[in-house]
Amino acid sequence: MNQMSILTDVTLCIGCEECVKACKNTNGTGEDQPWRWQRKIDDLSASRWTTIVSRPEKHYVRKQCRHCLEPACASVCPVGAMHKTPEGPVVYNPKICMGCRYCMMACPYGIPRYTWSEAVPYVRKCIMCYDKIKSGELQQPACTAACPQKATIYGNREELLQIAHKRIEEKPDLYIPKVYGEHDVGGTSVLYLSDVSLDFLGLKKEMDDKPLPPRTWAFLKEVPYVFVGVGALMYGTYWVVERRMRLEAERRGEPWPPSHEKGER
Ligand code: SF4
Ligand code: SF4
Ligand code: SF4
Repeated sequence: MNQMSILTDVTLCIGCEECVKACKNTNGTGEDQPWRWQRKIDDLSASRWTTIVSRPEKHYVRKQCRHCLEPACASVCPVGAMHKTPEGPVVYNPKICMGCRYCMMACPYGIPRYTWSEAVPYVRKCIMCYDKIKSGELQQPACTAACPQKATIYGNREELLQIAHKRIEEKPDLYIPKVYGEHDVGGTSVLYLSDVSLDFLGLKKEMDDKPLPPRTWAFLKEVPYVFVGVGALMYGTYWVVERRMRLEAERRGEPWPPSHEKGER
């Protein structure tokens, strides 16, 4: 498999957040919006596609989309707005996203975020700088290029796995003997080496090494708020789609609802 990937070595990260700044500047995600009583912004948001989570004893863990080899988010998207590219990144098409938020519930790592503050909200997440690398504007993701410690590096997945295993072999007393993302949920394109457990990055205990897509709907049905909230979610989806169409009609100076929906011919 010749997929492009990112390897983050937690033992090398100093928490400087240069990667976060580079991502924000490159992708024009805008200012962080504090969420109610939040003092320190350390979680992902629609304007923060990667973040640094502080752990005890000066451990800093970079969080971002894992770009799963078989992404659950893409498997549940009813309109195919989220998809895995042959090059590795999992990207989405905002033009066809209808705002249903199934991807947010399906992701085993709780990654996708929603632009709640916008009149017409969309899903947002790291896209591994796919568009800019494909167009030749960037040679590698902005975050990996910006890291002064080379704590997060970009490359071919197979080569990054070799580098990771070599580091574990050379320093068995330092690293947890596992490359996070090598097998988890069928493997991911973002890999981690660490000297502390990173299990906290995966929110759902049910995760194992098998890919999620074949089991996603069965899995979602086990989540009580999904089961109970399907009606509410469908109403929310209708509301978002309807609002999006209404604003688009207003922009074009057309009546809303369209005349044929009022029974006129
Ligand atoms: S980590 Fe979540 S959002 Fe990212 S590709 Fe995997 S399932 Fe999709
Ligand atoms: S790969 Fe690109 S989009 Fe993803 S966190 Fe890094 S800079 Fe941001
Ligand atoms: S730029 Fe590198 S060292 Fe700084 S926070 Fe990001 S991953 Fe860590």
